[in-house]
Amino acid sequence: MKSLNTLHNFIATLQKVAGQMNAHRDIVKYLSVPQRVVEVELPVEKDDGTIEIFHGYRVQHNNARGPYKGGVRFHPNVDLNEIKALAAWMSLKTAVMDIPYGGAKGGVTVDPYSLTDRELQRLSRLFVERLGSTIGPTVDIPAPDVNTNSQIMAWFADEYMRLNGGDGHAEAAFTGKPLTLGGSQGREEATGRGGVIVLLEYLKAKGKDPKDMTVAVQGFGNVGSYFAKFADEAGFKVVAVSDSEGGLFYKDGCNVQAMIQSVTAGGKLEKNICYPKKSVTDVEDDMSSCEPISNKELLELEVDILVPAAVENQITEDNANNIKASIILEMANGPTTAEADNILQEKNIAVIPDILANAGGVTVSYYEWTQNLQNLYWSEEEVNTKLERKMRIAVQEVLQQQEENLCTMREAAYRLAIGRLQDAMLLRGWIHPRKEDVSGKVNGH
Ligand code: GLU
Repeated sequence: MKSLNTLHNFIATLQKVAGQMNAHRDIVKYLSVPQRVVEVELPVEKDDGTIEIFHGYRVQHNNARGPYKGGVRFHPNVDLNEIKALAAWMSLKTAVMDIPYGGAKGGVTVDPYSLTDRELQRLSRLFVERLGSTIGPTVDIPAPDVNTNSQIMAWFADEYMRLNGGDGHAEAAFTGKPLTLGGSQGREEATGRGGVIVLLEYLKAKGKDPKDMTVAVQGFGNVGSYFAKFADEAGFKVVAVSDSEGGLFYKDGCNVQAMIQSVTAGGKLEKNICYPKKSVTDVEDDMSSCEPISNKELLELEVDILVPAAVENQITEDNANNIKASIILEMANGPTTAEADNILQEKNIAVIPDILANAGGVTVSYYEWTQNLQNLYWSEEEVNTKLERKMRIAVQEVLQQQEENLCTMREAAYRLAIGRLQDAMLLRGWIHPRKEDVSGKVNGH
């Protein structure tokens, strides 16, 4: 049911926006389904010698604008409909950012915390082996997502090179790799950093001062923790953080640097080298500065900015009415259901949509890939400067669409993306021009 909703959320918004913008009639049909679905069975040898079978997916949604691109997640809730929606959002995200990629997503239905390092490594390698030639530097380029990180990308890349040879820029088959193996400066932090750039650009356009605006962050993985760090540095007051175990509310603001240090110092979740982290709920010995809250309570806090940075379907029709923040910055993919989105619109809550807010990760993935293909190594400053410029342009373009069409930011971002995908698909001859699509565009010299 949950995952069906995820696909439904994508298709409902696609249909709504394509209708509003009088998009080509075939666009909805085309974008509602992926171009290819790869399903693999993964018999992984456990350390005790027994075999456990895991199911894996790679969904390639659209490559009209460039090779398929998107992360791979390891999570017990992964299923095909969820991955289909996430792949489609990648096509829209790369189009909003105007980077030359299509969209894809992969996933394995597994609780990675239940596996040892060696088991995880075997699972990762087998996934790449089974995907075979459906991935590659010019075909489909996977990256990290929920519960996958640079270590897992290192195993992916090593397996890919073992099977295909190391030449032909094989390292460009994956992004989010460790620096030592062709990763890019700034990739690890990119999604969080990008989110703060988007937020600042948005507030600037609205004439609002970020100083002391309060922020609640749901999720303290790669995205949530770096977002909190950069938001804190930019002058926002982070008052609540949470992860899958629960959360903490700090009336006077959380010491984000100390929090990041404590969770990465190891603890309960420190099972293996892939997840050297403990829960935010385990860091405070002295609880006088904070109080424990649930994830549900975090979403309903009296804050200026709410930042869902965990998984999809967190803001639903059950809790949308209780949200008190005036701005929601979607750092997770698909955290808001289509029904909740309508409620938020009625309540005049500004939603900065996922396909813009969290696009910093795939943008620096693009920089990693371009560096790999040319054997270049850019400095962190170079990468961050490029990221900032790119993200600010995307925010301005989305806000302009919003102003011209008097719509929500999500609708504006979808408009931009659907328009760009439609142009590419018309040029390729995948859909055929209507009168209004060719008028004024006919060849000149
Ligand atoms: N998993 C990230 C996302 O959802 C990054 C994808 C990538 O870098 O390809 O955008």
